[in-house]
Amino acid sequence: MHEECGVVGVSFKKESPAALSIYYALYALQHRGQESAGITVHDGTQVRTLKGMGLVPDVFNRDDIQKLKGHVGIGHVRYSTTGGSKIENCQPLLVSFRSGTIAIAHNGNLVNSKELRAELEKEGRIFHSDSDTEVIAHLLVKKLMYSEPQEAVRELMRRLIGSYSLVILVDNELVVVRDPLGVKPLCLGEIDNGFVVASESAAIDILGGKFIRDIAPGEMLVFSNGAYESKPIVKSKNYAHCVFEYIYFARPDSIIDGELVYNVRMRIGKTLFEEHPISADIVSPVPDSGITSAIGFSKKSGIDYMEGLMKNRYIGRTFIMPGQDMRETAVRLKLNTIKPNIEGKSIVLVDDSIVRGTTSRRIIDLMRRSGAKEVHMRVASPPIISPCYLGIDMATREELVAAHKAVKGVEALINADSLGYVSIEGLVRSIGIPADDLCVGCLTGSYPVEIPGEQCARRQLKLSEFDDARKEHIPLRSSGLEDSEKVTLGITEN
Ligand code: AMP
Repeated sequence: MHEECGVVGVSFKKESPAALSIYYALYALQHRGQESAGITVHDGTQVRTLKGMGLVPDVFNRDDIQKLKGHVGIGHVRYSTTGGSKIENCQPLLVSFRSGTIAIAHNGNLVNSKELRAELEKEGRIFHSDSDTEVIAHLLVKKLMYSEPQEAVRELMRRLIGSYSLVILVDNELVVVRDPLGVKPLCLGEIDNGFVVASESAAIDILGGKFIRDIAPGEMLVFSNGAYESKPIVKSKNYAHCVFEYIYFARPDSIIDGELVYNVRMRIGKTLFEEHPISADIVSPVPDSGITSAIGFSKKSGIDYMEGLMKNRYIGRTFIMPGQDMRETAVRLKLNTIKPNIEGKSIVLVDDSIVRGTTSRRIIDLMRRSGAKEVHMRVASPPIISPCYLGIDMATREELVAAHKAVKGVEALINADSLGYVSIEGLVRSIGIPADDLCVGCLTGSYPVEIPGEQCARRQLKLSEFDDARKEHIPLRSSGLEDSEKVTLGITEN
């Protein structure tokens, strides 16, 4: 199961209620998950949880928040498309054990959860959900049987492989950890009554707080009595920050691992023009995800920025609709053209990514029907050729259009006059973090951790080789190839 989520942890001075701040923070993180939301708080003697399916305002009302008494707590928003859309998978997850209760909320995806689960089931532990989080919770409870909380979390981290930003309540102690590769974001802020930890810094901003710093990969923070202690646990030589957070997932007003997402997207837009120059009448974004890169493209090219599409903001992401027909209908519902801005014009259309290709095709057809003379597609991510196993719900390899078609093929499929993707090298430069500290698995098929059936050769990846492969239209590794046919770095030679 693949999940995308947002997490929050709050540790306030006694008597300061945590639930309202968690509620606001979850609002700020709503884009990270629209399927379920939950809050758990602890007042020193009792733990209280409220969670349910739907958006933050669907799950909580004012009375609920007032009843959630406690000065320390955690919160979660969740989005998963594969099978697991059910109440059992809502978080925070609570597990009672001999000497207390733990509550846990998780953003990320483990790659060894199957094995861990089998091991725990053998020992007689019973699972109620199919989420990784329950595996983590059981494992932690097992460690807590004979270790202090901090030691138990330390031991837990030694067993987990994959991405995990965790906020955990062990009774009324808040413990937060970020996986040693730092795949998913997690940051720390300070507000009047104490500290807040959140997936994205925008959540700290909306609480009127001060962003302190990113939580370091492999670091554990333990909060109590209005203070926190840092416990660096695992030091990795390299990190694997998710590039897709910068490309699409995170809010542009968030700072992730030292880089403001807005600035990154702006730089990607500029790079996109340098790599795929074109003359046209206007640059137009696919709202909202393409806006910042389109502005960057416009600045660099000198071509006027003008909106050609309007988005209906009250419709969820089309990606969350099951089945192809639903998705196509959703695109029509979601976007409409501003005809006079488009009619008779040649347009550079900028979007953050092409996943299946459905959205781009629909939008380009829509623009042509509205009188566009030419539509040149520019994409602020390199071709996505491989699935994500580390926490972005993208698509299967079969569904990824760039896994099966070279650039020209995608160009024809989406009916564009021209198509240009930013290169992987260009993307990495625009992000501003060294390539060896980024996870580019979805762009290269080469992952930072062992994944059965996939390449794990990310260190010293020659990104230019991947970019060249795309330019020369060499089909990248597709399913069905024998191992012997695959060359290193995930590129096939034929
Ligand atoms: P498609 O190519 O039709 O599958 O969809 C591409 C569109 O989906 C782009 O406009 C992206 O903004 C958006 N998108 C990309 N990745 C995701 C994701 N993981 N979840 C939801 N939407 C996404």
